[in-house]
Amino acid sequence: MTNKIAIIIGASHAAAQLTTSLRQEGWDGDILVIGDEPYLPYHRPPLSKTFLAGEKTVDDLLIRPAAFYEKNNIQFKQGRVTAINRVQQILTLDDGTQLAYDKLALCMGARVRKAAIVGEELAGVHYLRNIADVTGIQPYVAKDKRAVIIGGGYIGLETAAALRKQGMDVVVLEMADRILQRVTAPELSEFYTRIHREEGVKIHTGISVKAITGDGRAEKVLCANGVEFPADLVIIGVGVLPNVELAQEEGIEVDNGIIVDEFCRTNDSNVVAAGDCANHFNAIYGRRMRLESVPNASEQGKTAAATLCGLTKAYKSLPWFWSDQYDLKLQIAGLSQGYDHVVIRGDKLASRSFAAFYFKEGRLIAADCINRPQEFMLSKKIITEGIVIEPSRLVDESIAVKELV
Ligand SMILES: Cc1cc2nc3c(=O)[nH]c(=O)nc-3n(C[C@H](O)[C@H](O)[C@H](O)COP(=O)(O)OP(=O)(O)OC[C@H]3O[C@@H](n4cnc5c(N)ncnc54)[C@H](O)[C@@H]3O)c2cc1C
Repeated sequence: MTNKIAIIIGASHAAAQLTTSLRQEGWDGDILVIGDEPYLPYHRPPLSKTFLAGEKTVDDLLIRPAAFYEKNNIQFKQGRVTAINRVQQILTLDDGTQLAYDKLALCMGARVRKAAIVGEELAGVHYLRNIADVTGIQPYVAKDKRAVIIGGGYIGLETAAALRKQGMDVVVLEMADRILQRVTAPELSEFYTRIHREEGVKIHTGISVKAITGDGRAEKVLCANGVEFPADLVIIGVGVLPNVELAQEEGIEVDNGIIVDEFCRTNDSNVVAAGDCANHFNAIYGRRMRLESVPNASEQGKTAAATLCGLTKAYKSLPWFWSDQYDLKLQIAGLSQGYDHVVIRGDKLASRSFAAFYFKEGRLIAADCINRPQEFMLSKKIITEGIVIEPSRLVDESIAVKELV
């Protein structure tokens, strides 16, 4: 009798956790991960932080060393899956290889959203999603050279901080009227605008890019209002799209991500999905969502592994995120969308440490905590347990954090 086999498509955060959890949950069959990047699963967050800043090597990024996978009999194959035959349970790879599976996990993540800007094919214009993108960017990074970053979201701002640290002259161009508009309150946008300006980054909002020009390589970024920015390096960071097409073509249900239930099951009982490519129902917020974060990829990896082993361990985690810029560690508990009231603990105007608490109908739904780990931990507890707390208490710094609840 041949051994049963679980195949995981995509070799990143979700896959690293899912394979580990499969063994922990007792999967005794084969495990094969197929990924199209030439690396074992690696930490993606440092790409726009310490790795871009030249403080880490590729080896430092690995989530687990090769020896761990060998010891646990977890195999890797480099390649791109181009088709899934769900009836025969066979995958086809880009080199024509066909592989049979008993159980399948879709951990295909997300890819950068292309901005369709004239001139984006010029040398020196980059997106930032994987190691290859950063190694493409690095030759353009040098003191006093000019970098223009298109997009003032977390990745754009982290990139600005990393390049500034290396002495580059950095400009951030944001189409909306404030940076971080999609994800946070005006208070946070104002705070990060102040910090970046103090660090020497030039931020322009309400500005749209028309084209990138240059003779073979990027030299200028032209904006719709006629303003031009000289550039040696242009980095575009305007969001990501989930990798769902492969699943969708085979009749797996998709709607802004692969639709999964609380056990990470798709509409095929042999197929689970986890991470950036999955869209789940979040019991804490009472709605469907697709999250782009490492904690979510890891938690869903655990749930999906349990499901493949025939167990039922529902996913019910509070979404959380982080962002590192300069000496600032932002930790975000929950999702602030739909808030009706925000209060601040600490001094957001002059200091580099405060917390913003977001309320909806009298309940705390999210918190952005900058260099405030205690407030972050407390917020996770309040939101997860549905504890009712007066906003006036949270802002009162005469009450120690551990006395707040
Ligand atoms: C620069 C950057 C900074 C970030 N910073 C943070 C942060 O500070 N905190 C945080 O929580 N999150 C951060 N994130 C987000 C975080 O990295 C993602 O949420 C996480 O990587 C999701 O993991 P995943 O396994 O779902 O998918 P991904 O990491 O997207 O990996 C999916 C993998 O599958 C491969 N693949 C796709 N289709 C196929 C196919 N058909 N065949 C074979 N392989 C395929 C892809 O190439 C990729 O290697 C950051 C992301 C980036 C890019």
